[in-house]
Formats: sequence, structure tokens, C-alpha cells
Amino acid sequence: MSDQLAIRRRRFSQWLAASSISLLANPALSGSAPKQKHIVIVGAGIVGSSIAYHLAKWGVKVTLLDRNTVASGASHGTFAWINATWAKQPEHYHAFSQTGVDAWHELQTELDLPIKWGGSLEWFSSASRQQQLATDIIEQQKWGEPAQIIDAAEALKREPLVNFTGASLVAESPRDGALDPVVISKLLVSAAETLGSKTIEACDVVNIQNAPDGQKVVQTTCGDITADRVVLATGADSSSVARLGRFELPQRSTAGVIVITDPLPPLLNGILVAPGVHIHQRIDGRLVIGEQEGAPDTEAHRARLMGRPTAFPTADISAEHARRLLTLARQYLQMPDKVVVNEVVIGWRPLPLDGLPVIGPSPEDSDTYIAVMHSGVSLAAVVGHLVARELIDGVDMAELSPYRANRVFASANRY
Ligand SMILES: Cc1cc2nc3c(=O)[nH]c(=O)nc-3n(C[C@H](O)[C@H](O)[C@H](O)COP(=O)(O)OP(=O)(O)OC[C@H]3O[C@@H](n4cnc5c(N)ncnc54)[C@H](O)[C@@H]3O)c2cc1C
Repeated sequence: MSDQLAIRRRRFSQWLAASSISLLANPALSGSAPKQKHIVIVGAGIVGSSIAYHLAKWGVKVTLLDRNTVASGASHGTFAWINATWAKQPEHYHAFSQTGVDAWHELQTELDLPIKWGGSLEWFSSASRQQQLATDIIEQQKWGEPAQIIDAAEALKREPLVNFTGASLVAESPRDGALDPVVISKLLVSAAETLGSKTIEACDVVNIQNAPDGQKVVQTTCGDITADRVVLATGADSSSVARLGRFELPQRSTAGVIVITDPLPPLLNGILVAPGVHIHQRIDGRLVIGEQEGAPDTEAHRARLMGRPTAFPTADISAEHARRLLTLARQYLQMPDKVVVNEVVIGWRPLPLDGLPVIGPSPEDSDTYIAVMHSGVSLAAVVGHLVARELIDGVDMAELSPYRANRVFASANRY
């Protein structure tokens, strides 16, 4: 680890520790409080699971609900790259993403989580885009990220099985990592349960009503649940935020196809973001392959995506997409001839219109708290910490101020 990184990591740990001290000093958490707070979290993706863990860690009674299973939404169909790269704009969002990376390191140590930190290598095919990448990396460096441009020979030393032909400039982001979002979400849920949190799957939240005593009655297909506060970590389902938080979150949700293979021998150290395709290899040896541009925009594909499925309707269509992504991946990565595809998933991105997270109370109901975001894998650890802090201490965390729901949502073209 470089000196600069070691200092940053130390500062971050101090910041976390400082946050926790005020929490531990809070009478609501010391056991002397008359009544333990009960917070219901709707949505057990990686974001909801992290919030559940952090709340439970600080003594809150938590019930985590999901209409399906833990990590069955975007946190299943995701590429799961933890990063604070050039795409994280503007500067405050980049800084927030950097904190997101740091927070995963802390949480990894705290819970012994399987996260692979191998950095990323990225390049484009077009000369103009490459030029822009070089400019973006200079900006990254100014913002304290140890990213750099390396040449193809240097890149080959990092990833000997990658074909860098045509890559004159390669952006290296050494702090990036990747995880298995289903495994990590389940570990967070289980850590929360060990601390007393309750998880209910196959439980659809249909409405939230105000009780006369100021509490919330969360109406679900598994019965009514009374709570002090409700968190909506409902991912791409904007209708849940509208119905439960009375807030029309300006959101678009784009689809991405993810292919996951059976375990393979070691092929990649880090994340590869090559023209048209991105690839990483999980700790268990599985390759995860994602697409840059999306599937060819044919009428048939568009029709198939109506109704937001998370899988293709037939094994043949799944196999066709797997072949398409494997062919792209083979252009850049030497793989064995026989690669068995384990899963082809369609993921739906929770994407607020301006590309930035929405974190904070609903403008229409201050007891209902919204946590919806893209790059939720990169951000889940820090978001869990900060949201728990706001909900418990009733403070406004400055880090979250740019992401409140009552902002003006300009349209940004992302993902
Ligand atoms: C193709 C693709 C690639 C991506 N790549 C990356 C990446 O490389 N790095 C990165 O950081 N991010 C990436 N993302 C984004 C990231 O995956 C998401 O931001 C993150 O998974 C969101 O997690 P979440 O917990 O908020 O939402 P989800 O995982 O979608 O969880 C929301 C849950 O809420 C439940 N729910 C909704 N409404 C209700 C209700 N009324 N009652 C009960 N349950 C309800 C759903 O069932 C769901 O399980 C990608 C996303 C996609 C689709």
C-alpha cells in the first residue's frame, strides 16, 4: 500500500470511529432508553442489507423485508465492480465513491468478507475517447485517486492473459475491487440477524399508513408490521417509492445482461474494462462478463424486455446472449476452449434521472427514508454507515447532502 493510501485509510478509520462514538453516547443505544426503535427496511438488496447490518450493530431493532429473496434484484444482475473511477462525476460524487471504497475495506475487516481487490484496467477503441480518458485520469489524480495511464507492455505485466492489441493508453485504477453481491448481501443479512435483526422474504410491502401514535403501520402480504421509521431500499422499482414514500422519484432504469461462468482456473487479477465488454473473475473462479453498450436493440429484444424480466424466456435465447458476450470476452482474454455458462441474468439499474443517489427522507413523509442508487455495490458499505447514523442520531450527515430527494433532477446520460 502506498504511503498516501495508508494515510487515507487511517483518516477514514478515524472518521468512522468518530461517527461511532457519538452513536454509542446516544441514550437510545445505551440500553437506558425507554423503548428500542424499530426500523423496517423494504428491500434486501446489497443496500438494504448493509443498512440493516449497520442499524443492528448500533442496537436498533430491524425488520428487513423483500418481496422475493435477499439480493434477487439489481444486486443479482450486477457486474459488482467497486470503484471510484473517472465516470463518477462531479467531484462530490467522486469523493463519496472514494469513501465507498474505503468503507468496504473497513467492513471487510470487520466481518471477514470475501472481496477481491485487484484494481482495474480500462481502455477504449476510439482515439478521441482514449484522449478523453487521459484527461479524465489527470482529473482523477487531482481528486486524490491513485489512477494512472500505463502503456500496453506495462498492462500486460498486470494481466498476462489479456490481449492489449490496439490499446496504446490503458487507465489503471489500482484501488478497485469486485465482489459476489449475492454472497456479500447474505453475509450482511446473517451478521444483522446475529445481532437480532429479522428478515422476511416473499413479503411484498403494499402500503404504509400512519398510526395515531405517530408510528407507521407497514402493510404487507405477510401481515401488518408496526415501525418507528421505514427505509425504502427498493432499487429500480420506482412504483414502490411512489406508493410507499408518496414520492415520484425521477428515475429511468436501463437493462444490462450479465453472464456468469462456472469456476475456471485463475485468468484475471483485477477488473478488465475493454472496448464493448467488462470482465472480472470472482474469488470462487467464476468469470463475470458484462456488456458496455447493451444487447443489439432489435424489436425482438425490446419486446422481450417489456415487463422487466430478470431472465430470458427460453434457454436458447439465454445461450445466444451468453455466446455473444463470451465471443466479445474472448477477443481480450485467453480462456480455456470449454467454458460452461452458469447463469445469464438481466439486471435492471436503479438509476435516478441525474445519475446520482437518492438518500434521505421522502419530501412527502419525513418518517419514510429513501435509499435508491446506481453504483449501489460501490456505495453500499458507506451508505449503510451514514444512513444508520442519520436514522439513529437524527443528524444530517454532510456527505449525504448532495443526494437528497428534494433536489432538482437534471437529466444525465449514464449507463
Ligand atoms: C447490469 C448492471 C451492472 C451494474 N454494475 C455495477 C457495478 O459494476 N458497480 C456498482 O457499484 N453498481 C453496479 N450496478 C448497480 C448496482 O447493482 C445497484 O445500484 C445495486 O445493486 C442496488 O442495490 P439495491 O439494494 O439498492 O437494489 P436491489 O438489489 O434491486 O434491491 C431492491 C430490493 O427491493 C425489493 N422490493 C422492491 N419493492 C418492494 C416492495 N414493495 N416490497 C418488498 N420488497 C420490495 C426487490 O425485490 C429487491 O430485492 C449495476 C447494475 C446493473 C443492473
